[in-house]
Amino acid sequence: MHLLLARRLPAALFVVLALSTVVPAQTKVTAPKNKFPVSEDVKLGKDAAAEVRKTMPLLAEPAVSSYLSGLGARLVAAVPPEFRIPDFTYTFEVVNQQDINAFALPGGAMFVNRGMIEKVASEGGVAGVMAHELSHVLLRHGTAQVTKAQRFQIGAIAGQVIGAVVGGTTGGLIAQGSQFGLGTYFLKFSREYEKQADLLGAQVMARAGWDPREMAEVFKAIEKDAGAAGPQWMSSHPNPGNRYEYILQEGKALKVSGGGSTAEFQAVRAKLAALPPGYTAAQVAQMQKAGTSPNAAPAPAPRTVPVALPAAQTRTVTVEGVRLSLPANWSQQAQLSSPTFAPQGAVSTSGSGAAFTHGVQFGWAKASSGVLDRETAGFIKGLSAGNPQVRWSGRSSPTTLSGASALSSTLSNVSEVTGGAETLTVVTTLTGDGRLFFLIGVCPDVEAASYAAPIDRVRQSLQLPR
Ligand SMILES: [Zn+2]
Repeated sequence: MHLLLARRLPAALFVVLALSTVVPAQTKVTAPKNKFPVSEDVKLGKDAAAEVRKTMPLLAEPAVSSYLSGLGARLVAAVPPEFRIPDFTYTFEVVNQQDINAFALPGGAMFVNRGMIEKVASEGGVAGVMAHELSHVLLRHGTAQVTKAQRFQIGAIAGQVIGAVVGGTTGGLIAQGSQFGLGTYFLKFSREYEKQADLLGAQVMARAGWDPREMAEVFKAIEKDAGAAGPQWMSSHPNPGNRYEYILQEGKALKVSGGGSTAEFQAVRAKLAALPPGYTAAQVAQMQKAGTSPNAAPAPAPRTVPVALPAAQTRTVTVEGVRLSLPANWSQQAQLSSPTFAPQGAVSTSGSGAAFTHGVQFGWAKASSGVLDRETAGFIKGLSAGNPQVRWSGRSSPTTLSGASALSSTLSNVSEVTGGAETLTVVTTLTGDGRLFFLIGVCPDVEAASYAAPIDRVRQSLQLPR
């Protein structure tokens, strides 16, 4: 419309019009000096990505993964030609962690916490953070940082680059693993690089069809919430100063067409909300230290423990004043300190004590508040502390136990005996003497169909001492 109109106008008038609508030019970003060949980025990134995949919990949820990869592919396709590096391979993986954070490795492997999708308000915000990370890769900031650091007479580079790029806890650990005592200076990007990544990120996301203002808003929100949601992000991507303002300013120079998909973004969030919650930063750090990440080693094929199915006949026992009916082929297992009833072969003793794979256990815990849901949450937290693989949605459903109101909570766990997935059904009720009584049923997920009903019949039969 405007062009057609302009052509019909006298030339002099056209010039005046053009001047009055002058658009600010986008900032020219230039990659910093780098003495390393591109192949070094590729190699370092490949090694670091292997380390990340071994030490951090990744989320294997196809709908979420393909959505994130889709956002990534759209950004990569929008990279201006002068920044394209044909040797790089871009991958986008979801880390099963609650906090807002993302990082990218030299050569193109990017890891985005699921918390980013859960806590950032819009698709454009997520794309903005990814565009920022992608820009660090395109500008080869990891190896450029080391180029700069050579002034400090530091020798080999692998630990530094990985530390510099990964940042935060992971970077620290990887750097330690490669025998480098690095100052924090090398574990985060400089403010100059941050600004470059912001500006190029804004340009890339605008070309891909998202409004750079959404990136500015996300950074503002992360910063405001730095104590709770984004401490890792803030430590590896420091605000160069006026971040919000200069991204908005850059956005004015950029043309955005297209936009984010609200429906798809919401569908992926709903998918995540239905899963057990992601790990906290503290849990991930603990896993990295202990080498117990779910993907730490090729998981040994789950061993099945051959035990007889629950007998249809029941027998009634009274132990510690508690009366309950059990499948007739379950007997009390003396190796466990709380009363435990299981079929033969279901108890395994190792260095860390005895564990059972099938059956029920009961006992009492201290309860101070007299509020059932609070005490239940505290009890489950205690269980999880001893076993970091225990996961709980935080929700319980009402039921009854021994004629009193009770809560039933379903937990997932990885059996320390078999390495396979198991389900824990925890039923809790408050007793007259102010304690929390618990009944825990355990069975491997693959045998859930045979155990759900017998375990529930134990609950129905159970009578607490009066
Ligand atoms: Zn950054």
